[in-house]
Amino acid sequence: MASPIEVSAAVNPNGKPRAVVSGGAGFIGSHLCEALLDHGLRVLALDNFITGSPTNTKHLEGRADFEFRKANVNEAISVDGDVRYVLHFASPASPPQYDANPIHTLKVGTLGTMNMLGLARAKSATFLLASTSEVYGDPLVHPQPETYWGNVNPIGPRGCYDEAKRCAEAFAMAYHRAHDVDTRIIRIFNTHGPRMQVSDGRAVPNFMAQAIRGEPLTVYGDGSQTRSLCYVADLVRGVLANLEKGDELPVNLGNPHEVTMLELAKKIIELSGAQSSIVHKELPVDDPRQRQPDITRARTMLGWEPKVGLEEGLQKTLEYFRSVLS
Ligand code: NAD
Ligand code: UDP
Repeated sequence: MASPIEVSAAVNPNGKPRAVVSGGAGFIGSHLCEALLDHGLRVLALDNFITGSPTNTKHLEGRADFEFRKANVNEAISVDGDVRYVLHFASPASPPQYDANPIHTLKVGTLGTMNMLGLARAKSATFLLASTSEVYGDPLVHPQPETYWGNVNPIGPRGCYDEAKRCAEAFAMAYHRAHDVDTRIIRIFNTHGPRMQVSDGRAVPNFMAQAIRGEPLTVYGDGSQTRSLCYVADLVRGVLANLEKGDELPVNLGNPHEVTMLELAKKIIELSGAQSSIVHKELPVDDPRQRQPDITRARTMLGWEPKVGLEEGLQKTLEYFRSVLS
């Protein structure tokens, strides 16, 4: 058995509640750490950099309430001091990355989730799981409400991610029912924004990097498959609202504005002013045909809905990619 990782943290000097964020050096995790600090919490971020980077939290390093520990949450975690919130965001999240690390992806959704739930239980903390719209697989119900159980292929290339997240949800419910842990599950739909990795292989970074470089945009299949894109600031607001007002049942967080991938590629060419063409490449196995969140539950329970429109969000993300690619 792997030896436990000792994660030490300074004793609370000022009574501020403390959050532990796994995946804190990732795209969404780094925005979340920043928002939690801005809301007056102390933050301990844990990350093993499998897909994240120290540069994502560099701007937080000078903040007295921010602490970072390199840690693999698939192994036992021990954190000293008080903890009010445990937020589990660690996991490879792009199809090429989880395809390249299938066992790690399964472990972080299962063992990693169990370890983070164990931490929440030990500290009597509220636990929040970053789940995904992938639990719906290639959905036969459209748009997807939380009551839909999904259409997932467990043995396809996406199975390591989809099934790990489904197991993670089952773990959260089990800790809630068996140990009375205060748990939350958010199902995140495609989210984009600054600090996404240029080369993580997802549609937004690929299209933007290709447009900025003047290369053809690679649309997989005929591009008629749809996604609904949420800007990261909206998503993070939803996470905080769910911590405050949510219950143990899953809640979709995403922007219901649905577009085809061909429309998205054309929009990014237009917004970037690129001269790029579009080339079609093979559609990956089990690529979901359609994706749109039903956010009725988030609207009614949390009073949350996205505020950043598709074009406005894409402009902001494009600015970021220009800054890192120039
Ligand atoms: P990301 O790859 O940028 O961030 C994930 C972070 O987790 C990385 O920093 C990585 O190094 C870290 N990590 C992975 N395994 C770890 C481990 N065992 N121990 C410690 N750290 C580990 O991806 P992201 O887009 O920011 O996704 C964050 C979370 O949100 C993931 O759980 C993902 O499944 C979920 N999610 C994201 C989206 C999206 O559109 N971005 C959609 C649905 C769900
Ligand atoms: N996609 C594409 N070209 C790319 C990358 C992705 O057409 O260069 C497609 C992909 O096949 C999928 C959609 O864009 O249909 C969204 O892919 P992404 O990896 O961003 O997210 P996910 O499939 O996990 O929703």
